[in-house]
Amino acid sequence: MTDLSRLSPVFSPGEVWLVGAGPGDPGLLTVHALNALAQADAVVHDALIGEGVLSLARDGAVLEYAGKRGGRPSAQQDAICERLIALARAGKRVLRLKGGDPFVFGRGGEEALALARAGIRFRIVPGVSSGLAALAQHGVPATTRDTNHAVILATGHCAADGESVDWEALARAGAPIVLYMAVANLGGIAEALIRGGLAPTTPTLVVHGATTARETLLEAPLAQLPSLADGGAIASPAIVAVGAIAAFRQAIAEHVQAFRQAVGS
Ligand code: SAH
Repeated sequence: MTDLSRLSPVFSPGEVWLVGAGPGDPGLLTVHALNALAQADAVVHDALIGEGVLSLARDGAVLEYAGKRGGRPSAQQDAICERLIALARAGKRVLRLKGGDPFVFGRGGEEALALARAGIRFRIVPGVSSGLAALAQHGVPATTRDTNHAVILATGHCAADGESVDWEALARAGAPIVLYMAVANLGGIAEALIRGGLAPTTPTLVVHGATTARETLLEAPLAQLPSLADGGAIASPAIVAVGAIAAFRQAIAEHVQAFRQAVGS
């Protein structure tokens, strides 16, 4: 078999690699991510990085949790950036491991900027974003020639209070919408999309824990999302897809075998 380590550069001491770990299934790591795990001295990871991925870190690597999810100790973004810089200056090979793709709603941009300003050498390794993986996992293409020539990725959670997506304008754009971090505000978002012109019957797909052992799938018309969300039927982390593509699943559902079933994880 090919020696996969030859496909990635050497991870030098004092460098930071800002790496996407994909949606959860370790099989969806990139070769660069796998090689980074095999070489890193310190792995600074988010809450959404599962055991299956972390267990691939080299023996002796120090794992540091730096997540920001509700209910867990919260690390401020500045403190995370300072920690990455301090580890790199101490001569460590620092793997900053983020869920999905580091530059899709992942604050990877902020961390890259902080590293650049501090004069730290770093690499950025893209990952499989959960929004696209959650769809593909269930046989839903993000685009088809019959339904859409554009797709919108949007966050349901905004950094600053009062700063929000213009949902009615997104509805008018007519492209399917893939929502990240939307569980807490889902009722309000669904209502705003309907006000913006989307039919209450618009198909939606909610995938919780995509590509992990706890994955669940829920399909419902858009108008039902507020009551499902209020009733606690939708838990985070979840991807919510809104639009005609969501209905595509029915056409091939019986035949789709997700990889997580194949490997029994
Ligand atoms: N950079 C990440 C997104 C980080 S924001 C990416 O590209 O995927 C965190 C949000 O991602 C969660 O609130 C959820 O909406 C989504 N998410 C991450 N992993 C997920 C998974 N396995 N299943 C469903 N949603 C997931």
